Amino acid sequence: MPESEENLLRSYLIQRMELGEKVIFRPFDMEIPGHDTVEQTAYSIDEFEKTESLDDLYRAICECQKCSLGQSRTNLVFGAGNPNADIMFVGEAPGADEDRLGEPFVGRAGQLLNRILAAMKLERQDVYIGNILKCRPPNNRDPQPNEALICEPFLHQQIKLIKPKVICCLGRIAAQRLLQTNMSLGQMRDRWFDYHGTTLMVTYHPAALLRSNQYKRPTWDDMQKLLRKLEELKQ
Ligand code: SF4
Repeated sequence: MPESEENLLRSYLIQRMELGEKVIFRPFDMEIPGHDTVEQTAYSIDEFEKTESLDDLYRAICECQKCSLGQSRTNLVFGAGNPNADIMFVGEAPGADEDRLGEPFVGRAGQLLNRILAAMKLERQDVYIGNILKCRPPNNRDPQPNEALICEPFLHQQIKLIKPKVICCLGRIAAQRLLQTNMSLGQMRDRWFDYHGTTLMVTYHPAALLRSNQYKRPTWDDMQKLLRKLEELKQ
């Protein structure tokens, strides 16, 4: 392996380990010496709904410029975690840290989500984490309706491929988008919804917990309900 590629591989592995990952996936275009390159299926972005794996979906959309956020992003934040996860968390959009690292929920809110998962006896690698938008809106503004309209089908395809048993929306905006509603977070919490055949619940965004301690207890109650629902669905 040439030295430049070795350095690239080393810095990639260090970055993933610093993010706390124990299972590290090979970037799609990185060859490992001694391993044959897996033949890759080529889908265009307009064929994303035909993709049969998350890798294929990523390859189809990774250069997306369908909305203006494609121009300003540093990295497209596809999503991360177990491709066969029972639980999928969905937030609204990447922030600055996520845009820089290409990974969802890696800033302060992400670290809090990791602690919530640990309290549930789960790790990031046990669940799947994604967002409605795959590119960061400038100054962390809310997703615009047209951006969400264009980008959400990618998330929908991700959900179809992962087939989680439960989707947990983190925050009002993600929930309003997926449920196509204007209900407040208070109206959506503590209820079960159906998202195209998948059970869906809504809880506070971890960033809200960082702003106010009052949301911690209800969020923990929600997580316990989520775990109980998952057990029920597995029976
Ligand atoms: S936000 Fe979504 S639709 Fe817009 S450029 Fe990024 S991937 Fe494409």
